[in-house]
Amino acid sequence: MVFGCSKMDKQEEEAEVNRARVPIRESFRVSGAASEKRRDSAESREFTEQNIDNAPPANQPKNSESSNTIEELIEKLLGMNPDHLILVDKTHALGADFEPADLVDLALYPSISRSRDGLYLERAAAEALAELSEAAKKEGVTLLVSSAYRSYGYQRKLFDSYAAKAGEEEASLSLAKPGTSQHQLGTTVDFGDVTESFAYTQAGRWIEKNGGKFGWSLSYPRYPPGEYIWESWHWRWIGVDAVRLQDEFFDGSQHRMLLYLHDEAVR
Ligand SMILES: [Zn+2]
Repeated sequence: MVFGCSKMDKQEEEAEVNRARVPIRESFRVSGAASEKRRDSAESREFTEQNIDNAPPANQPKNSESSNTIEELIEKLLGMNPDHLILVDKTHALGADFEPADLVDLALYPSISRSRDGLYLERAAAEALAELSEAAKKEGVTLLVSSAYRSYGYQRKLFDSYAAKAGEEEASLSLAKPGTSQHQLGTTVDFGDVTESFAYTQAGRWIEKNGGKFGWSLSYPRYPPGEYIWESWHWRWIGVDAVRLQDEFFDGSQHRMLLYLHDEAVR
């Protein structure tokens, strides 16, 4: 059988998605004697320094109430759908054919407030958003969802129309290029008016304080700064265990945590 050109393209795209999808660093699987050794804190540090070139910023949890080690938290993440921990940034793009497995219309969840119709999320994230919205409502706070899943094609249209007016360089400062938006994952939402002022609204303050309890993570925080500007309105659902890992071992940086889990140098 001869592979046609389109088949090769498809394979390349799949390889691209698979690269982005590599789940959790194999070297951190805890098993047998190695796990016993790693649970000893002194030896654990030695193990980390000798074998892990991009060790996380902290070896011990900051929160003294937590009894989980980094290995235990990572072990919990191994049970998650790896699609929920995909690394997507300017240099780790999703393929054009990446689509969340199970998209659902947010209109199906009465507790979720929407600025318009046609907003979809992957099912687990939609359910986590419904829980978050419900909790906010109980405290008299409305979290208005203004953007959710965006397909590769939709992001391309957004980007191209911006670039046609402002030029590609200017466009790439304000918009993610197709394939590099977390919105393509189907687990990411924008709240409110999508401006910096969202941080100072009742909703912005509430989610900043409570989002993590429901597994929501601020992708581009003010501190520590990352490769994108602070976006107080842009939240990605990664699950409560990943939020704990991010907060306790990576200084609250989702990006640093994901780089680490995907065996990339932590920036
Ligand atoms: Zn966003």
